[in-house]
Amino acid sequence: MKHLVKILFLVFASTFFYSCGSSQKATEFTTPNKPKNIILLIGDGMGLSQVSSAYFYKREGNPNFDRFTTIGLSKTSSASDLITDSAAGATVFSTGVKTYNNAIGVAVDSTPVPTIMEHLIQRNYSTGIIATSSIQHATPASFYAHVKHRNMYEDITEFIPYSGIDFFAGGGLKFFTNREDGRNLLDESATAGYKIITDFLPSETSSEKELILLAEDGMPKMQEGRGDFLPRATQLALDKLSRNKDGFFLVVEGSQIDWGGHANDAPYLILELLDFDEAVGVALDFAEQNGETLVIVTADHETGGFTLAGNDNYNDLNPVFSTTGHSATMVPVFAIGPGAELFGGIYENNEIYHKMMQLLAP
Ligand code: MG
Ligand code: ZN
Repeated sequence: MKHLVKILFLVFASTFFYSCGSSQKATEFTTPNKPKNIILLIGDGMGLSQVSSAYFYKREGNPNFDRFTTIGLSKTSSASDLITDSAAGATVFSTGVKTYNNAIGVAVDSTPVPTIMEHLIQRNYSTGIIATSSIQHATPASFYAHVKHRNMYEDITEFIPYSGIDFFAGGGLKFFTNREDGRNLLDESATAGYKIITDFLPSETSSEKELILLAEDGMPKMQEGRGDFLPRATQLALDKLSRNKDGFFLVVEGSQIDWGGHANDAPYLILELLDFDEAVGVALDFAEQNGETLVIVTADHETGGFTLAGNDNYNDLNPVFSTTGHSATMVPVFAIGPGAELFGGIYENNEIYHKMMQLLAP
């Protein structure tokens, strides 16, 4: 046992020093083009087998993953565990700090760490968050809230009216109005300048900040008829945020790829993955036209130990799972646009934050 601890320590120490060394090299020897805007798309639980399934199960044409020029691999362990959860796995993207599993926007000692959104709002960027979970779920919450535990949904919601984020779309209505403290955070959001939309995704965006809440908790599954919510919300956000001459930062999460993995339900997972690929396509179409936008697609971790296994017949795919939880496998990072070259290679997940901030430095 003692031996194992020692080995693990050596492994951690060497990866730590390695990652410091490699980031120094990047800053010394490359002067990347800088993007004006960044679109970060997170496939929750999306490992390489999940991405591969897009190639085998997309009905027509090539997956949008095909369009990227730079591919890297991200090492996903959190500060507390070899296998991360989605809270630590998103906080590391929003703050650059590896923290403990369940932490939302706070460091290992539970102190708040400013998020990339908070930094950029101060610099007059426009910002947006889209998810197919509730917008208070661990991944989106980590970009605007600071709480000790991901299950503090009511506390997370309190950050929304005062977040300064221009565009929210997803579920999570019940945490605004059906609250233990009796506050009505929809009213507070309206007072803070949000246009509240709870019936359907509008076809045009307004000049006000928008809070679009289309489900009490998570959005329906694709199998339950969610339709094109995710790609259309992505387009709507881009229409809105791209009006800002100073730039924007948009986060889009395919939240339920992870839920299909936890359920060990391959059709659920694959339909969520294909929907996410559509949103990736919308982001890439925009970036191609715009020319000043970096698009990054990655995952917080892999879920389900998903494999496109074979059986006796090697021409017959048998998607199987090895766990109902997450796994420690590295996850892919796809990038295209100004600065994309920084995202090639193998690195710790907190490097993704530092690379983005390096590219957005004034
Ligand atoms: Mg998530
Ligand atoms: Zn999960």
